Amino acid sequence: MTIERSVALRRRNRRYIARTKPPCHLCGEEIDYSLKHPDPMSFVVDHVRPISLGGTDDIDNCAASHKYCNESRGNRDIETWRGNVPPPPRSYVTWRTW
Ligand SMILES: [Zn+2]
Repeated sequence: MTIERSVALRRRNRRYIARTKPPCHLCGEEIDYSLKHPDPMSFVVDHVRPISLGGTDDIDNCAASHKYCNESRGNRDIETWRGNVPPPPRSYVTWRTW
C-alpha cells in the first residue's frame, strides 16, 4: 500500500466515523465534533490495534477518540492504556476563556 493511498483511506474513514458522531472509544465521553485541531478534545481517528503493532487502516480497526486520549494512549494496546492513564481533564475548556 502506498502512502498516498493510506492517506486517502484515513480521510475517508475519518469522514465515515464523523457522520455518526460516536463517543470516544477510549474514555467513553462524548466528542465535540465542532472542535478543531489542535484542541486536545477534538476528534481524531484512533487505531484500535496500533499500526505499529500490526493494525491496519481498515474501517474495522478505526474508532473515534479525543486527540488527548489518542495521544496519551500512544502505541500501547487499549488494556494497557486503560490501566495507566487518568481520565481526560473535564475542566479543560476554562483556559480558553481568555
Ligand atoms: Zn476520550
